[in-house]
Amino acid sequence: MRKKVIKNVLIVNEGQIISGDLLIVGERIEKVASHISAADAEIIDGQGRYLLPGFIDDQVHFREPGLTHKATIYSESRAAVAGGITSFMEMPNTVPNTLTQELLEEKYSIASRTSLANYSFFMGINRDNLEEVLKTNHENVCGMTDDGLYFSQEGNILANQPEYLEKLFSRVDTLVALHSEDESIIHQNLAHYRSQYGDNIPFSYHPLIRSEEACVRATKRVLEIAKKYQTRLHFFHISTLAEASLFESEIPISQKRITAEACVHHLWFSDKDYEKLGSFIKWNPAIKTENDKNGLLNALIQNKLDIIATDHAPHTIQEKDQNYINAMSGGPLVQHALPALLELFHEKKIGLEKIVEKTSHHVAEIYRIKERGYIREGYYADLVLVNLDKPWKVEPDTIHYQCGWSPFLHQTFQSTIEKTFVNGHLVYDNGSFENEFKGKRLNFQKIR
Ligand SMILES: [Zn+2]
Repeated sequence: MRKKVIKNVLIVNEGQIISGDLLIVGERIEKVASHISAADAEIIDGQGRYLLPGFIDDQVHFREPGLTHKATIYSESRAAVAGGITSFMEMPNTVPNTLTQELLEEKYSIASRTSLANYSFFMGINRDNLEEVLKTNHENVCGMTDDGLYFSQEGNILANQPEYLEKLFSRVDTLVALHSEDESIIHQNLAHYRSQYGDNIPFSYHPLIRSEEACVRATKRVLEIAKKYQTRLHFFHISTLAEASLFESEIPISQKRITAEACVHHLWFSDKDYEKLGSFIKWNPAIKTENDKNGLLNALIQNKLDIIATDHAPHTIQEKDQNYINAMSGGPLVQHALPALLELFHEKKIGLEKIVEKTSHHVAEIYRIKERGYIREGYYADLVLVNLDKPWKVEPDTIHYQCGWSPFLHQTFQSTIEKTFVNGHLVYDNGSFENEFKGKRLNFQKIR
């Protein structure tokens, strides 16, 4: 068994920062102590560095199969480990959409051959595949979602289908995650601005089209139905303070039936940035006001929102560099999400312990991921070694996404991710990758 000791490192875990050593044997954390001597182990100097449990990103679009001109599971898992993300959960709007068990298993098969990070893939739900969805094995599939499927067919945002949600929630016995926006409000707003501007609507109108009202109305509607059925429901990418205020903060994470997340771009950008960045920060749901941005961060700190995700959704630069109507929504984030959150730490807006709770511990709690999400003896060694005082600048030659661009271009980050371990293997080391080791399929405890 290969052994590694990370020496004299600051370990950020479960609300504390402690100085010590960590022993990895094979794929797992063997021991955490103030001093570990293991003569036969490879020594990794952690002096002045912080060791975090790997970021578990519950919302990414890796585009394979079917959209591999944008990205692949290999290319984006590689960018993910460079960003300290050691596990991801991927969305069903690949082509063909992941609406059958067979298509779902095909994605697992691709990932087993190519992914550098651990992985799970969501089963897709639309109005026509409920019986197929109910066959999902909750012990090795993270959950089911409608996210992204609205791009292929109108009406696929289930938040707009209350009768169908009643049917779904009355039958499912595991985690459902939804994209919550009201399409009828969006259509009305879009028609209004299109009548003034045609296809060249200024990008700053995006949050007025995909508006706060559209988010709040859909989220309230879904909440009401979920509460009626006691559904284990997770809301992806909450983008407004008004919605964040709808969630409970006093219930412990392990007992919450309804959970919610914020995404890095909604915590970083605001409507002030549309003028400069235009289509490159066009996301659904839209980036909204400064007040929403600050409110989402506060809601995370107060535990009204439970986790942080990326919604990493790469498109080619040609697909993005279009007028308002044609520019695709979404952007690449997995490589820069943790550096951006650590920048918020440097700005004294969030603590390191809280970042770790929201990107790792609570993601593991929400999905009941087995043996990951904490730095604990016996758990898989999914770890990130971070230097908080090693500035670097996002430039084209440092970007690992297949699409080759980032909304963070020219941004200087104070913190550098130096090493990323996945299942005990050093897969990313100061700019170089080890392609030999592949990630594992995530396993889950049954959610009652
Ligand atoms: Zn979405």
